[in-house]
Amino acid sequence: MALRHILLAAVLWYGLTATPLWSWDLDVHRLVNGHAVDLTPGPLGDFLRLHRERIVALSNDADHRCEHDPSEAPNHYIEFEYYGGPPHFSVPYDRGEAEARYGAENMAKWGVLPWHILDVTQALRDALANGEWNKVVVLAADLGHYVADGHQPFHTTANYDGQLSGNTGIHRMFELFMVNRYLDHYHRPEPPLPPIEDLPASLFMWLVENLQEVEGILAADTWAREGLTNQAKAIISQGYDAKPDVIPSSYLERLYVRTGLTAWTCMTKATVRLAALWLWAWEEAGRPTPPQSVWPWAYPGSLWLRRGPREVPESPDR
Ligand SMILES: [Zn+2]
Ligand SMILES: [Zn+2]
Repeated sequence: MALRHILLAAVLWYGLTATPLWSWDLDVHRLVNGHAVDLTPGPLGDFLRLHRERIVALSNDADHRCEHDPSEAPNHYIEFEYYGGPPHFSVPYDRGEAEARYGAENMAKWGVLPWHILDVTQALRDALANGEWNKVVVLAADLGHYVADGHQPFHTTANYDGQLSGNTGIHRMFELFMVNRYLDHYHRPEPPLPPIEDLPASLFMWLVENLQEVEGILAADTWAREGLTNQAKAIISQGYDAKPDVIPSSYLERLYVRTGLTAWTCMTKATVRLAALWLWAWEEAGRPTPPQSVWPWAYPGSLWLRRGPREVPESPDR
């Protein structure tokens, strides 16, 4: 009886904590948000650092929303190929214009990540302008999630799991199993932050740039699978469902040799660009002075509940 309960609890825990296809691993989201807080200069940076723990803890809330809100998933990816031929610079930056051209129903299937990043950045600007500081913390954390997703190349392509090119399983091999295995090699990003002159143009260009990494990763994956047994290949193809301890280490090693730097570069870009977006929102809001206190009375008009990390107690932060 007790064993049955333990097994049931384990299954439930796995169901609650497992990250589905729409994200980097939790540790990566936490790193990106935390490092971006450290990189943000000036009064906004000081404010974000007061709330660093919460901005890190909320870095994966957007994925949890997918579990009960079917309209949330398209916010985590874009399948650029459906929006026109490469290099996709003809996609309208305005969501209304895009809907008129492609149809909202199609966009809900093809993903709307860049428009969503745009919306969240503008919502952050508005919250800053209105002095809604509690909301600022939540939106800053959320923005970090979406920006990081946009820097996972397989979140920008219709071939999102290599399923169209004989590379099925690569999505999770790259973003989860390889990255986690070598996360110790990753270095904290350094300034400068990129300047943002035209927000939508920058956003779309960033994501298209990540799309252009896809071919290289697929070629590396094909190479890394060469010479493996059929059984080993079948395990890799399971992708998300693969058990970590049976994924051939030789495959992950070879994949890392050719794509490790790509992964770290994508994470670094996500981090400095996120800090730049926060700063953009603050400047566009008229550089408001943030409260330098974590106490509830510093946050009029919002119920300030200081929530600690609710997901992984062990911080991978470094
Ligand atoms: Zn996500
Ligand atoms: Zn993913």
